[in-house]
Amino acid sequence: MADPQSPFTFVATCDFAGLLRGKAVPAAAFERRCTGGIGWTPTNIQITCFDTIADSPFGAMGDVVLRGDPATRITARLPDGQVMDFALGDITDLSGATWECCARSMLRTAAARLLTETGLEVRTSFEHEFMFLGPDLSAAFSLAGFTQRAGFARALMAALEGTGIEPDSFLREYGPGQMEVTIPPAPALRAADQAASLREVTRAVGRAMGQPLTFSPLVSPDVVGNGVHVHFSLWDAGGNPVTHDPKGRHGLSAMAGAFIAGILANVGALTAITASTAISALRLTPHRWSAAYNNMGVQDREATIRICPVMAADPDARARQFNFEYRAADAAASPHLTLAALIEAGLAGVRASLPVPEATVGDISLLPPDALASRGLQRLPESLDAALDALEANTTLRAAFPGRAIDIYIAHKRAEASHAAAMTPDARFSAYRAIY
Ligand code: GLU
Ligand code: MG
Repeated sequence: MADPQSPFTFVATCDFAGLLRGKAVPAAAFERRCTGGIGWTPTNIQITCFDTIADSPFGAMGDVVLRGDPATRITARLPDGQVMDFALGDITDLSGATWECCARSMLRTAAARLLTETGLEVRTSFEHEFMFLGPDLSAAFSLAGFTQRAGFARALMAALEGTGIEPDSFLREYGPGQMEVTIPPAPALRAADQAASLREVTRAVGRAMGQPLTFSPLVSPDVVGNGVHVHFSLWDAGGNPVTHDPKGRHGLSAMAGAFIAGILANVGALTAITASTAISALRLTPHRWSAAYNNMGVQDREATIRICPVMAADPDARARQFNFEYRAADAAASPHLTLAALIEAGLAGVRASLPVPEATVGDISLLPPDALASRGLQRLPESLDAALDALEANTTLRAAFPGRAIDIYIAHKRAEASHAAAMTPDARFSAYRAIY
């Protein structure tokens, strides 16, 4: 809905840096420009989060088209009276065909492939942690800490009113000034669109209230990180839940187990996409309640895949609630790319009929190396470059994504890693804090 206070609507792509970039068009012309498209520059995909330009096969040449999707439009009134009016879109070539580096299209393709090959769809829900900058001495999970931010929570809910994004919980998380906001499950594309939009609106509300906040994966090396946990459940065409099998290992259906096994088989490479900054791997270390190994655990907050608890007693309700979460993601990654890569890896596991993984129990970081090795347990990559090496060598993800997308993505992230490597640690953390 056009807002008289916002003469422009911003049409954005959520890019390889996980940032929304695009162009604004007159609000009155938005619908028309969704059909007609907006000119966009291929090399923009190589603009890193530091606004440097990574090696680009496109150079100064060529044109692509940004096509807004009216269904994603958000009109959010901020507490300072400003209105954010924006929509997400796809990028096509001039003929209207999908462009190889459009993450939103990659997600649409991944979800369609899953549906065609298995008859199933995923419903996903993004759980986001972020931190207010500046001193916050309130206690974790406390009413006092929540109340201190109750004005913010009210303003965020007001900004999201009418956008279709309806947070289902908001809490004072454990870290200093850390909060968490969760949104209910939705089909993949909508879930990723909402995650990208929610981050923008949340940051903007904080700015408008003079309470700056960050989704950076780690604000400093000595505190817990800001994670993104991506919850999954699988559903058949009739709308029936198929993640749970009460008789299956760890309560998982064969299909869900194979999907998880596919994620775990590719997890090193996946972290190059889902935890993709130069500081992301520091969050993925033991005892931060994030994810540190290629493991699955039942209700284990240190496992990369955590089978979540079910609170319902009734068997049907249990089946509908049953879900697992991928914990090795953060909010500097494009949610579209994150979800596309996870679905493609999961689908590869289903195609190969991988067995349901055995859950680990207890603190596996205490196990000696030979005990880990004998169970096939490995640390997640300990740097962005190591994760990119794994992605470079990963045939599953290479085959899943179109054209040169993976190589272009790797060049982008290598440039980010080398730019960050030239900074002092303090400068690096503060740059990521400011950007995300
Ligand atoms: N902050 C933790 C992370 O980085 C997650 C804590 C929790 O919600 O279990 O993922
Ligand atoms: Mg949390």
